[in-house]
Amino acid sequence: MNPQLQVLIALQDILLMIREANDPSSQRAMGKIGFEMTNLDALETTKTDLEGQLQPPIRSEYSRAQQRHGRIVVPVINSICYGCFVKIPYAIDGADDRNKTLYRCENCGMFLYWVDK
Ligand SMILES: [Zn+2]
Repeated sequence: MNPQLQVLIALQDILLMIREANDPSSQRAMGKIGFEMTNLDALETTKTDLEGQLQPPIRSEYSRAQQRHGRIVVPVINSICYGCFVKIPYAIDGADDRNKTLYRCENCGMFLYWVDK
């Protein structure tokens, strides 16, 4: 898998964990009232480290996607982008090594990864 894609997928998980840690209703649901701030600090540090691993053009696209969609990376399943539910062109979807290149959906701009069949 493309190393930048791996960083983006990890970042998306970290962002979700930070969002949950900051959301009182989800803390209540998980019985986590009084979530340790050290955990949140560690998540923020990891987020900053991962962002630093992104190449500058990818980092700016990542920031844009995060602000616009709240998500960064979406799966392609049965040739469909799960960011916008539009079919991915066969020239990209049909490639054997599609996860080795960092692709973005031409319609919604989200970064894409494929789940191997
Ligand atoms: Zn899309």
